[in-house]
Amino acid sequence: ALGGVAYIGYGIYQDRHPPPQVEPDPSKKTLLILGSGWGSVSLLKKLDTENYNVVVISPRNYFLFTPLLPSCTTGTIEHRSIMEPIRTILRQKRGSVKYYEAEATSIDYERKLVRVRDESEVRGVAVETDVPYDMLVIGVGAENATFGIPGVREHSCFLKEIGDAQRIRKRIMDCVETAAFKDQPPEEIDRLLHMVVVGGGPTGVEFAGELQDFFEEDIRKLIPEISDRFRVTLIEALPNVLPMFSKQLIEYTESTFKEEKIDIKTKTMVKKVTDKTVEAEMAGPDGKKEKVVFPYGLLVWATGNAVRPLVKDLMSRIPAQKESRRGLAVNEYLVVQGTRDVWAVGDCAVAGYAPTAQVASQEGNFLARLFNNMAKTEALEEKIRELSSSLNIKPGNTAEVSREIEEYERQLRRIKDIKPFHYSHQGSLAYIGSEKAVADISWFNGNLASGGRLTFLFWRSAYLSMCFSTRNRLLVINDWLKSKLFGRDVSR
Ligand code: NAD
Repeated sequence: ALGGVAYIGYGIYQDRHPPPQVEPDPSKKTLLILGSGWGSVSLLKKLDTENYNVVVISPRNYFLFTPLLPSCTTGTIEHRSIMEPIRTILRQKRGSVKYYEAEATSIDYERKLVRVRDESEVRGVAVETDVPYDMLVIGVGAENATFGIPGVREHSCFLKEIGDAQRIRKRIMDCVETAAFKDQPPEEIDRLLHMVVVGGGPTGVEFAGELQDFFEEDIRKLIPEISDRFRVTLIEALPNVLPMFSKQLIEYTESTFKEEKIDIKTKTMVKKVTDKTVEAEMAGPDGKKEKVVFPYGLLVWATGNAVRPLVKDLMSRIPAQKESRRGLAVNEYLVVQGTRDVWAVGDCAVAGYAPTAQVASQEGNFLARLFNNMAKTEALEEKIRELSSSLNIKPGNTAEVSREIEEYERQLRRIKDIKPFHYSHQGSLAYIGSEKAVADISWFNGNLASGGRLTFLFWRSAYLSMCFSTRNRLLVINDWLKSKLFGRDVSR
């Protein structure tokens, strides 16, 4: 039935020929999904949407492939290549699936209502309304942790959303062009060309690597007169960077950074940020603390996650969440503790795993399986009820109907037996600059640690295969080729 276009790829065929739009069916339950990130979109992808009236609410009307976000800060990849509109994702689903671009501002889990706010620029005024649900999935992610350190929010760039990457890209070129301006004092040039990254987790490390590449491969050639002054410093409070990787890969990353001339300052805790400086406390080899000041042109803050206000507010109203600090405590089926019919996935949920894309997508897949099964269970229970009552009405074919009931009951037992969520760690990957990457991969119950150029090719192919759609994949390949052949685009 796919005809001549099937060979292009079923995804493309489906894209062009979406199933018809359907209105909500009052006999079905309303499944409300908050968020459009890894957790929510993985759920949507695998969910049999015909079983529910699905409503998706998120202020961001696209899915973002976050592993390649650091590459967007330097133009190695253009931002639209890693964005997939939620509308294209949803139009491939069957049944009633609605999307509203809005932010959830509070959740009333007792009355089963979510308050949402739409701040539309064209309307000029914000509109608030309540959306009812029968089942709710919270997949709203987390926000950037600042630990209340003064000046961070006002002066630094984060690296979580597309807007952050665009801001950084502009700021890098602003620093470079200002440093190259006529008759700049040398100390001002040094400040402008000092790029400081706070946080030695994978986000900070990958960004520092991309930044150094950008400088070595492009800016140095285009503006040679400032090339000796460009510096990248990575500040980390702990004794080493990338704590989730093995010791060998940590050492490999640190020595690669040394070759790339990225300065790593470990055991250095940032305490204050001003518009031009970062103030930190550095522990010396004797444990003595010393105050250090780093003047900067660009400051990128990548110190991990904090709980969003929506989630914090909900937690404060559920007695069973009193002890939880880092997000919504969930049980082994991802049900939010102390509630009914509310599930949480991804960075806003605390299920005992690191807040990564891998965990969020496995949680989303799990919920899709769970919900598909719940719908099948209800349908089977309904059939059994109907058959049982027909037994009383028409006693003629009792044996046959009983057999049928037994068969349905067997099926029911099988699908009801859903194992709790179990995370299977596939490994960790990080790009560290100059076409090198590090990988800690789970391999036949063991661990495989590798670093270097071959790992970089593995990193690229792994991320390419994980891209959301064929369209994204083609765009990313195109960007890689383009920046290799013609250099990155340095226009602001
Ligand atoms: P992170 O939590 O992994 O690392 C933040 C780092 O900042 C920590 O090492 C912490 O010690 C340091 N820090 C905190 N406050 C500081 C201060 N005041 N001064 C100096 N250093 C300070 O954060 P992330 O890199 O944003 O990652 C968030 C999550 O996403 C993690 O779970 C991570 O594994 C995951 N992630 C994974 C990848 C990948 O696998 N390639 C990429 C990005 C993010």
